[in-house]
Amino acid sequence: MSKCSICDHEANERVRIPSFQKFRISCERCGTYIISEEAESFLMNNSEIGGQKYILSGYTRNATLTKKSAEISTSNINDIIGSAKIPSDPLEAIDTLVLYLYHESTKKTPDSFIPLTQNDYPLIYSKNLNEFNFYIRKAIELGYIENDTYDASSEYRLTIPRGWIHISELNKVTRASNQVFIAMWFDEKVNEIWENAFKPAIKHVGFNPIRIDKTEHNEKIDDKIIADISKSALLIADLTGQRQGVYFEAGFAVGIGIPVIWTCRDDHKKKIHFDTRQYNCIFWKNPEELKEKLINRIEATILIKKP
Ligand SMILES: [Zn+2]
Repeated sequence: MSKCSICDHEANERVRIPSFQKFRISCERCGTYIISEEAESFLMNNSEIGGQKYILSGYTRNATLTKKSAEISTSNINDIIGSAKIPSDPLEAIDTLVLYLYHESTKKTPDSFIPLTQNDYPLIYSKNLNEFNFYIRKAIELGYIENDTYDASSEYRLTIPRGWIHISELNKVTRASNQVFIAMWFDEKVNEIWENAFKPAIKHVGFNPIRIDKTEHNEKIDDKIIADISKSALLIADLTGQRQGVYFEAGFAVGIGIPVIWTCRDDHKKKIHFDTRQYNCIFWKNPEELKEKLINRIEATILIKKP
């Protein structure tokens, strides 16, 4: 039998794709994926990647689940590892498990039991079976899931009401983004407002600040900006420095209905390209002042709309 290129488990299928130096591999753990010969030898010979193979397993397995066939090559392997949606803590891992059972049960009926096998741990990016079993046990202890008998069982379903209440809470959280996008001048002269005003103010109100540093990216940056703004609950546009990019990003947010808070350093007031009275711009002299004003404005702009 041939082996899986990622996890070394025996593969159900390993097919050479004619006229390409690639294989299609089916593994009970990693799902079905395509890998180039070059990427395969990279995995074999690069010992540093060893500790991150579980990320690849999780990625290919989840792609199989959504009927997208993952393709691994030497040019995308680091991107896959860097951008995979790995649960950031045990609670998120448990949530991922509960969501998996939920999605499977929507294909059947809520009373159906969903099997989990010893090869299913990549579903929630667990590193091994022990870690997976740990989350299953904790999900049972939390009352989110139950199994069909009291002996060692490998079939589970959501509990009523706890499990289903938890799902509806998770769905609410994913719908209401907690991301705030900052459009600003990337210059040392205003950098301190990111560290000492924007970041602390946004975190203070329970949101997650993000910005994109244009100097670190190539021309494809605009796609990423558009995607990140679309996922945000709010955009803050600081007009200090009169950057065109800031006007563009704020304009895009307005266009798709995302609220925008305008800010500007006091000495740049006269240079602003529109009538700021109409937009109620926050003028600031120092980061401390901006932070205080921002907290109040954010609360007024979005928090009051929260249920
Ligand atoms: Zn595998």
